[in-house]
Amino acid sequence: MPVYNCLNFIQSLMLPERCPCCGIATGSQQFFCNGCYSTLPFNTHACPQCALPLPPQAPPQTLCGRCIQHPPVFHGGFTALRYEASINHLISSLKFNKQLHLVEPLANLMIDRLGKL
Ligand SMILES: [Zn+2]
Ligand SMILES: [Zn+2]
Repeated sequence: MPVYNCLNFIQSLMLPERCPCCGIATGSQQFFCNGCYSTLPFNTHACPQCALPLPPQAPPQTLCGRCIQHPPVFHGGFTALRYEASINHLISSLKFNKQLHLVEPLANLMIDRLGKL
């Protein structure tokens, strides 16, 4: 076992993963607890060009008014989550308080959502 993996294994025994939203222990393979994961504001209905959240009844591939009136120079945008009260404290903690332990759970959320596109 490489040294890095060995250290991660020892760390997981001493400091089990905790849900970044509520703080309960989740085990080593899961970042968010099931309860918090089920309430995350996934950006499932969004403008495909700028990722602005759209109403749930908007048909797929609907552009927002801003992108129709003033098309951006990029072809597409993506965000895993809507910036809402239930999640903005995590993003603020990462950006402004250097809570780097949040990088992995938030990055994995993005990877997971990108894989579903
Ligand atoms: Zn939780
Ligand atoms: Zn847009």
